[in-house]
Amino acid sequence: MSMKETALRIRIFGDQALRKKAKSVKELTTKHREYLSAMARLMYEGDGIGLAAPQVGLSEAMIVIDIGSGLFKLVNPKIIKIEGRQVLEEGCLSVPGVCIKVKRAKKVKVKALDESGRQIVIDAEDLFACVLQHEIDHLNGKLIVDYASIIDKVRIKNKLEELKKKAKDEELSESETKSCQLQL
Ligand code: ZN
Repeated sequence: MSMKETALRIRIFGDQALRKKAKSVKELTTKHREYLSAMARLMYEGDGIGLAAPQVGLSEAMIVIDIGSGLFKLVNPKIIKIEGRQVLEEGCLSVPGVCIKVKRAKKVKVKALDESGRQIVIDAEDLFACVLQHEIDHLNGKLIVDYASIIDKVRIKNKLEELKKKAKDEELSESETKSCQLQL
C-alpha cells in the first residue's frame, strides 16, 4: 500500500473495489490508524454516519461509524449475535442517490479491535445496529442494491447505469449525495 492518505476517495458503484472481500488485519500498524482517520474525515465530509475501507479502495477489514454519539474506529469487526428485526431506508456514500429499504437485525453483538488493538465487544441496537451491519456488509463486498426488491430494481436501474459511468469518470455531483437521509 503505497497510496497516500490524501489520495483516498470514495469509490462509486461500478468500482470493483466495492465487490472485493476485505482481508482481516493481522497486525495493526500506524498506517492502519492513519487510514482510519482518513476514512473518518471522508465520512464526515460526505455527511455520512458510517464508512468501510473498501469504500475508499482499501481491501482491509476496517470501518468507522458515528451516528452522533461519538466516533468508533473498528478493525476486524465480526457479528457474534443477532436478535429481532428492523427495516430502515438506507443510503450509501458509494451509491449516491439511491435509497433502499433493508431488513436487518434489530440488535447485534459485535466483536472487534479498537484502533490500539484492544479486543472490544459492542452491544448495539436500532440505528447503530443497522450501521454496523451495513458496514460489515461492505467488508464482504455486499451493497444495499443487493437487497433491492424487484420493484426497487426497476426504480434504480437507470440511476445505477448512470453511477457506473460516473465511477469511471471519478466525479460526483454534490446534489446527488443527499437524496437519502441515512448515508452509510
Ligand atoms: Zn455503504
